[in-house]
Order: sequence, then structure tokens, then C-alpha cells
Amino acid sequence: MARRRKQQYEIPEGNVITMRNVCKSYDRSAPALNGVSLDIKQGEFVFIVGDSGSGKSTLIKLLLRELTPNTGFINVLGYELTSIKHRKIPKFRRNLGIVFQDFRLLRDRNVYENVAFAQRIIQEPNSHIKKNVPRILATVGLADKYKSRPNELSGGEQQRVALARALINHPYILLADEPTGNLDPRNSWDIMQLLNQVNREGTTVLVVTHNREIVNAMHKRVITMKQGIILDDEMHGEYSAEENETYEQSELEEVYEEDYESAPEDSGMQDDGYNGDYQ
Ligand code: ADP
Ligand code: MG
Repeated sequence: MARRRKQQYEIPEGNVITMRNVCKSYDRSAPALNGVSLDIKQGEFVFIVGDSGSGKSTLIKLLLRELTPNTGFINVLGYELTSIKHRKIPKFRRNLGIVFQDFRLLRDRNVYENVAFAQRIIQEPNSHIKKNVPRILATVGLADKYKSRPNELSGGEQQRVALARALINHPYILLADEPTGNLDPRNSWDIMQLLNQVNREGTTVLVVTHNREIVNAMHKRVITMKQGIILDDEMHGEYSAEENETYEQSELEEVYEEDYESAPEDSGMQDDGYNGDYQ
């Protein structure tokens, strides 16, 4: 009798994320992911868009190894996530930076401590932490807020703290699940510009978003999900899924006119126009 053998699959050169025929069901209802195959190369910037419930967060959680698939294979940075040993998961996750819609900061600690926390986990010496935290806070434009508690910050500032925390250990991949979902258009642009900057410095970036205007302005790879499958995958894509927009069109237009159209040369909205000077 033939023995069941582990299925072999190839990881194309340059891939940091490889998914093959991944299915994930939470219960007996329709699967959240229903046969997803995906290749993401080192250094890519990828938007993931799609209706609510289409499986975007499930995809992100599978890549973090917060969930395991029912069937299929997932390889992230050489780690086989379908067979990785539990004790190796923390080491695997140190390669990732993670940002969520709701920031997830430690409420009882100040900005400095929230960011330093990520370095303490990897046992970075305090002398390094003291240099690294101010540097990354300057990058996200929060150098003077290091003593503030999260509840003393705006939503946009809190998300920049979360981003600083995600970036301080120099992750290979940044996974962001609706990082601008709680932000106004102005702050959403700031966060996306920071993600763009991080990507230019070499980090692979995956961003789940509903922000149609930003997706269309940035001309990045756009993966559109629908009912657990990849409906569309475009290299310089547009947000074409039919769904409700997060912001009123008029609200966005006001912001663009005020803040971006007047100074297009350093707005960072286009690939080519971005000068990397965000401090
Ligand atoms: P998205 O992030 O695109 O909105 P999700 O990945 O969160 O979509 O959800 C995909 C599907 O899986 C939805 O039908 C959702 O209801 C279901 N789902 C998500 N999380 C759970 C869970 N913990 N238990 C049961 N069903 C879930
Ligand atoms: Mg989601």
C-alpha cells in the first residue's frame, strides 16, 4: 500500500512568502480561505484589498502562524509554517513586524517603553535600546512624544508608535492589517508614506486596506480577495472591488487639496515623487 508522503513543492527563488492551495475553515460554514496560492518576493510592497469577510485577516494570521491551514502549504522566510515546531514560533516571529488597526499599545507605559518593549523581548542591551528607540521615534515623527502615554496621543500618533515598535527590530517582512482603518485621511497618508519609506529601505510590506484612494495613488501590487480566493493580482494595480468606501469622497478631496496638491514634489504620494525625507 502506498504510504502518504508529504507533498513536495518548490519555493521560487527570491520568495519570502509562498502559499500553495491553502484552505482554512473556522467551522462548518464556508471556508475563510478556499485555495489560495501566492508568491511574494523579497522587497515587494503589496496591498491586499477586498470586501469585509473575504479572508484578508485570515491570510495575515496564517502568515504570522497565529493560525494553521486545514490543507495546503505555507512557507515564510524559509520556515515551513505547516510543520514548524511550537518552540520555534517565537524565533520565526522575530523576523516579522506586525501592525493592527487598533494599535495594541500598552496603555500603562509611555511611548518610549512601548517601543523599547520590542527590543527587550529580543534581549537587546539597554545601551543599544537607548540609542535605537529615539532613532526610530524620529523616523516616525514622534521624537518629542517619548514620555507620553497612549491615551495622550491622537490615533495617528498611536499608530506611528505601533509602527515604530514593529520596525525597531528590523523585520524582514511588515504585515499590517488595516493600519489606517481607524485614522482620518491625513493620518492615513502619513502612515502609508512611512510604510513606503520602510519598503524602500528593503522591508517587504503587506498591507490590508480599504483605502481606495491611497491604493490607486501608490501604483503597487494589488491583490483582491473575494470569498476566500484571490480574485485579482495586479502589478501596478487599482482598487477595483465594489464596496463601500471608508471615507466620503468630498472629505478626501478636501484633504488632498489642502495638504498635497499644494506641494506635490514632496508629498510622497507617487513612487517617483517620494524623496525619503520624512523626519
Ligand atoms: P476579512 O479580514 O477580509 O474581513 P476574515 O479573514 O476576518 O475576513 O474572515 C473571513 C471569514 O471567516 C468570514 O466569513 C468570517 O466571518 C470568518 N471568520 C473569521 N474569523 C473567525 C473566527 N475566529 N471564527 C469563525 N469564523 C471566523
Ligand atoms: Mg479583517
